[in-house]
This record gives sequence, C-alpha cells and structure tokens, in this order.
Amino acid sequence: MIPPGGQSQGGEQVHQPNMIDFAAGITAIDTEYVRPGLDASHLVVQGDRAAFVDTGTTHSVPLLLAALAAKGLAPEQVDWVWVTHVHLDHAGGAGELMAALPNAAAVLHPRGARHMADPAKLIAGSIAVYGEEAFRRLYGDIRPIPEERIRVVEDGERLMLGDRELEFIHTEGHARHHYCIVDRASAGVFTGDCFGISYRELDSDAGPFIFPTTTPVQFDPEAAHNTIHRILSYKPERVFLTHFSCVESPAALAPQLHRDLNAYVDLARDRANDPDPEASIHAALRDWTFERLDEHGVDPDPEFREEVLRMDLALNAQGLAHWLKHGGGV
Ligand SMILES: [Zn+2]
Repeated sequence: MIPPGGQSQGGEQVHQPNMIDFAAGITAIDTEYVRPGLDASHLVVQGDRAAFVDTGTTHSVPLLLAALAAKGLAPEQVDWVWVTHVHLDHAGGAGELMAALPNAAAVLHPRGARHMADPAKLIAGSIAVYGEEAFRRLYGDIRPIPEERIRVVEDGERLMLGDRELEFIHTEGHARHHYCIVDRASAGVFTGDCFGISYRELDSDAGPFIFPTTTPVQFDPEAAHNTIHRILSYKPERVFLTHFSCVESPAALAPQLHRDLNAYVDLARDRANDPDPEASIHAALRDWTFERLDEHGVDPDPEFREEVLRMDLALNAQGLAHWLKHGGGV
C-alpha cells in the first residue's frame, strides 16, 4: 500500500509531512528529526517564489519536497535555502535539498559557508558530540553544497524573495556562525536557535514554555543576552523557532530566557571543581528546569518531561561544561 505522500524518486516511501500554516505565506514543516514536534523547517512563499528556512537533516529532504508539492510549487520556484547556522539539525539536509532545487542559492553566514562546501569538519565535530553510530542514524550522509551556489550574507544585508525584503542579522551567543532573518511581512523573525527552544507539548495556561539552547562548542552567555535584545529591537510580534515554530509576543517571553541564561551560568560555575562537572551540571540543569516546569503548570509526570527534554538537557549540559572548561567567561 502506498501512503498518502506517494513515493520519492528513489522508490523510498514518503508520507505526507506534518505542516502548520501561518499568515504571510509561512508554513512550518516537521522535519521529523529525532521525534515529531522537535525540529521545523519553514517554507516562505511570496507570489510565485519560495524559500526554505533551515532544512532538518538529509532524511528530512523528501518531506520538505513533499511539502513544496503540497503547496502547488515546483522545485524551480525556490530561490533560496536560508540556513540560520551550520548545526546539523538545521543544515544537515541543505546539500541534499539544494541538489533538488535547480535555481536556489544557499545563504550562509561567512563563518558557516566553508563548512557547507566541505562538511568534513562538521561531520567530525558532530561525531565527537553524538558518537559515530548515532551520527549515522540521525544525519545519514552530508552532501556538500557546490561553492558557486553559496551566497554569503554580511550583517544587516537584505535579500529579496519576489517583492518581499528580508534582513539578515549576525547573531552570536548560540554559535558564531548564526544569523537571524527579520521578516517585516510577517512581523516576525526567524530565530534559528537564538531565541531558545519552545516545544508545543510544554504549553500550558501560562503560555509557551521557553528555554535557551547552550549546545557545544561556541556558547557565549553575554552574546546570547545581547542577541535576544537585538532581536527584540525590531519589535517582532512573533518569532519562528526551529524548535518548534511560531511563538507570539516574544518580548513577554524574553525574561524567561534571560533568567535561564543567568541560572545556567551560575549553576555551571558552582560546579567547576566537581570531579565530573558535566554530570553534575546535567543534574542541576534538570532540577532547575523541572522547577520551572512546575511553576509553569506543566504535566508533572517525570517520564513525560524526560522524553520531551532528554536531548536538550544533555546537550545544554555538554555545552555549559565545554564553556566552563574553556574559561567560563572569566
Ligand atoms: Zn544550533
């Protein structure tokens, strides 16, 4: 039996992607990285032209192409692949996607571009974080993007999608190769990992639960605070996160992010002399986060919470331990 999405060219069966439509021609596509509801690519459509913001992994590409087809668009109508930064849950599928989009240019931060043209270092770095076996399962093969199809953007540069202007701003804190995209047409900003993570499973009557991502190896808390201020200086009414999609009224959410960043830094520094700082940071981060979830009125079941947050707690602990070991901002 052929599932609703039909078959890809390779004969591999593709199911219909999970999509959420927003105003101003924006659609979130679940890339199905790790689990549903964790990682989104956004499709932006303006007139008869289209762009993707972040791509998920190589495994996500058939879903992205199915979403494009579901919107009645041909691969030739995609002008841009905007990759907020070169962490592989955002960029791993970019090479594979570009190969299917004959007219698109991949837009990258100057510090990210060479890693997409030659992903060897990215692959090695990710194997160091995840291990070889998990790397293969999570990301598959990483296809390079031919250099001539890469467009580098400087801070403040503007690009057009049809008659829609988007502004690219360099935003450090999470990674030094990160940009965000200011989109006045949607009164939104595509924030990649610079405005934290907010899973819809953790929404409550108090609104979205949001927390920072301190992934290794370039976390910089001072820059992360500044980036949040810079994003808000554009007075967005909403932000589109890669994990997971649209949250409204970011100015009201920012205090949660600043408070967490300060708490993370303090709890990491307090454990600098522990025999295994990463393990004790991990435990403290879990306690802090679970207290915040209690405050927020989220389902108290620890198994549910672990399932939703396991990977981020581990990555955040790893990133904080790395930051601490390399100076910890002092
Ligand atoms: Zn990232």
